[in-house]
Amino acid sequence: MKLKTLKLSGFKSFADKTTIEFQDGMTGIVGPNGSGKSNIIEALRWVLGEQSAKSLRGVKMPDVIFAGSQTRAPLNRAEVELEFDNSDRFLQIDSDQVTITRRIYRNGESEFLINHKNVRLRDIVELFMDTGLGRESFSIISQGKVEAIFNSRPEDRRVLLEEVAGIVKYKKEKQKAKQELDETTDHLDRVADIITELD
Ligand code: ATP
Repeated sequence: MKLKTLKLSGFKSFADKTTIEFQDGMTGIVGPNGSGKSNIIEALRWVLGEQSAKSLRGVKMPDVIFAGSQTRAPLNRAEVELEFDNSDRFLQIDSDQVTITRRIYRNGESEFLINHKNVRLRDIVELFMDTGLGRESFSIISQGKVEAIFNSRPEDRRVLLEEVAGIVKYKKEKQKAKQELDETTDHLDRVADIITELD
């Protein structure tokens, strides 16, 4: 899997549609203070399912929409699109190219798309779970994150190791199966009660 392009439109300082193409090797983004370097990284985290407006330096999620400048009116919609080369089928989708899109409108309404088809946020989060690219993963190390890891509680550090080891997905599936098992046990108890009543 390889990240090919990131497209931003109406996201934070990127009012106009901007396409960043990632070539082979290392890509560096340079620019003066306040020119939008961190906004690009935030766009990446956002499209991968970030749900905390605070961690994107906002108060509420629509704050990511271009808020206007001295020369331009605010916009009503932000969109970020990520395109991956998936010819190695690293992502569990049977397609050579995978496109992830997220949109948000001023009224707070959101849209999530995988290969241009509407999906739930959960589908995107699950697609990237254990791939090392999820919203909580360590392929994106923001300012202060290294200290945060050093200072975190052992329990929290264990969660990081589990993500790296790729077992988060299985833990979630186990949790879901256990919940279904509990529900089924409740139903069986209810059936046993009814049988006793009928006897
Ligand atoms: P530094 O090098 O200082 O860390 P940077 O290049 O990482 O800076 P960012 O923090 O990404 O810059 O960008 C900050 C700029 O983005 C500010 O000028 C801010 O006004 C602008 N900005 C943030 N949110 C919005 C928004 N919703 N609408 C318009 N502009 C925004």
